Amino acid sequence: AREQVARAQKLEAVGLLAGGIAHDFNNVLTTIVGAAHLAALDAPEGSDIAMEIEQIDIAAQRAQSLVHGLLTFARREPGKPQAINLCDIVREVTRLLRASLPPTIHMTCADEHGKFLVMADHTHLHQIVMNLCRNAAEAIGGAEGSITISVTKLSQGLLEDQKPRPEGWVQLEIRDDGPGMSLETRKHLFDPFFTTKPLGKGSGLGLVVVAGLVEEMGGTISVESAPGEGACFTIRLPGTSQSEAVPEITAKDIPRGHE
Ligand code: ADP
Ligand code: MG
Repeated sequence: AREQVARAQKLEAVGLLAGGIAHDFNNVLTTIVGAAHLAALDAPEGSDIAMEIEQIDIAAQRAQSLVHGLLTFARREPGKPQAINLCDIVREVTRLLRASLPPTIHMTCADEHGKFLVMADHTHLHQIVMNLCRNAAEAIGGAEGSITISVTKLSQGLLEDQKPRPEGWVQLEIRDDGPGMSLETRKHLFDPFFTTKPLGKGSGLGLVVVAGLVEEMGGTISVESAPGEGACFTIRLPGTSQSEAVPEITAKDIPRGHE
């Protein structure tokens, strides 16, 4: 619980930072990039000074993309919860990822035709699954490996540490057989800006966003991993039924033929 409070405080700090100074910071960076471009025009081609100006330009542009990520993060849409079948989202994400993943990464979705309803914003749920799958794929990298996604239903009796819910819980497990992570990495996994990836590759905000969204939905996230043992992220979201969901969405949003 103390860990969760600490994380919430960090999240709030990130939000404040993003909302408060990221915008001004972006203006400063725009000036730097602009001035670097002008200076580059005056610098003799191939000279030391030209190379140094290029370094300034590259660094400032990296900083800009970081700030951009922060702003996107802070301006997150509040979201419009509706009853969604988690399997539909998993199918969407796997379809998108299959196109870009190296063919050595396999994705399987256990129980692909089950109905696993949760109250969630479509984009947010998509973001959660996508971020976790991307991390798994990036961990495997160019190596041979597989990602296994499973969606299951948990009846309330199964969980000792969670609030009883008549609708039970929907559990999403994303497992990879990549390199796994050290205890040190696992400790800082959810820290804003924590990344083990090279500059420009990782923002260290992926899991912060995931954890924030899951918490907003009243769910939990946990991870099991050790070096050489792959990683498994488990997310549990409160289940829902269509009847419970209907009053929370406006009439025009109710899909036809679902009752
Ligand atoms: P980013 O992907 O930008 O680095 P994340 O917040 O998504 O930021 O992840 C933070 C760090 O957690 C990663 O840099 C990586 O070290 C570690 N990590 C996340 N998922 C996995 C995984 N499936 N296997 C191994 N390490 C992981
Ligand atoms: Mg990531």
